Amino acid sequence: MRFDLLLRGGEVIDPGGRSAALDVGVRAGRIAAVEPGLDPAGAREVADVSGLVVTPGLVDLHTHVGIGYWGIDPDPVAWCTGVTTWVDAGSAGAYTFRAFRAYAQTRRVRTPALLNVAGPGLAGQTGEGRDPAALDVDAAIATVLGNRDVIVGVKARLDSGAAGSLEPLRRALTVAEAGGLPVMAHIGVAPPRADEVLDLLRPGDIVTHCASGLAEGLLDGGRPSRAVVDAYARGVLFDLGHGAGGFSFATLDALLAAGLPPHTVSTDLHARSVFGPVFDLPTTMAKLLAAGLPLADVIAAATVRPARALGLPGGTLTVGGPADIAVFAVTEEPFDVADVHLTVRTAPRRLANVATYVDGALLPPLLPPGPPPWIPLTGAQRAALDARTRIFRDLLTQPLVAADGLDEQFRRQE
Ligand SMILES: [Zn+2]
Repeated sequence: MRFDLLLRGGEVIDPGGRSAALDVGVRAGRIAAVEPGLDPAGAREVADVSGLVVTPGLVDLHTHVGIGYWGIDPDPVAWCTGVTTWVDAGSAGAYTFRAFRAYAQTRRVRTPALLNVAGPGLAGQTGEGRDPAALDVDAAIATVLGNRDVIVGVKARLDSGAAGSLEPLRRALTVAEAGGLPVMAHIGVAPPRADEVLDLLRPGDIVTHCASGLAEGLLDGGRPSRAVVDAYARGVLFDLGHGAGGFSFATLDALLAAGLPPHTVSTDLHARSVFGPVFDLPTTMAKLLAAGLPLADVIAAATVRPARALGLPGGTLTVGGPADIAVFAVTEEPFDVADVHLTVRTAPRRLANVATYVDGALLPPLLPPGPPPWIPLTGAQRAALDARTRIFRDLLTQPLVAADGLDEQFRRQE
């Protein structure tokens, strides 16, 4: 048997590899061939993906997995959105990392982590960087060195509620130097100001919420500030990190007008953004399409670029690499999307996920759980969740087929 799985007849868009009408063969959880006209006779399972777009499994550079106030279960979102790698962006610090690790290891998707420089991580809503005693550099370094297989960077949240100063960033840089890792810095309402944060970042470090409408020091007179231009030029990576408060079309427009597009598009998906305004990564990608970026660029920003930013497996369909694959129906169907300030734009097309594979295995459908009790929702969000539950219940309480849809298993004796 040449392939365990053959995806046949699709249009591959793999910005880190080849983009053309190509079949994809999978063997033993790895990409075995990406070629036109692969022979289906040599495949155990053939999936007809004609008319569909095949991409590397999406890599979401900023999510919150599992534990604490913000964490969500990625699997019930992953199977229907194409996201095969969920980088946890600081949900856990040194004191909570064992719980994160135990939880994350039981997920179907990949869950590498950025360790929060604050020991408690995001067990609570915010304020984790305000207590100097909790910014425990020694504990963080020991946790990095003891969890090299999972920890791929260090996270610091720099805004007035989370920190109020640059101290978490200074200590995160010390931890990152000791571990040879990049830092991801979250920016928001000052203090500290975003330009102060950017000036401390090194090439290869990441600023998330880069198109924030709340962070002071990103724009100056409607144009990217000196600190933004300098950071971009020296190789600081700009990550979208949409979240509940971190994305403004106006700021994105200013970055694009100055020729400084975000390197990566991530959701900051968590318990307070998954029911809107973020919803998922394909919807966030559609917001970049709405801002005028081409589809191939947007796919690069959700595959090869985030994978390279943190040295992660996947992100391309390279032969020999992990068979993390997403299949989308891309329809020319304009739909409205909103930023966190409720500015509405029209996305020119929709990416609807049809299938998602991790290590060559199709992720099974999973019903998303409801919100935890501390999450505030509007009446419209509650009504939508109730409607979704009703639709699932109706689907699952109807017999799948009638008698004429069944094979006769036990023929009666005549
Ligand atoms: Zn976040």
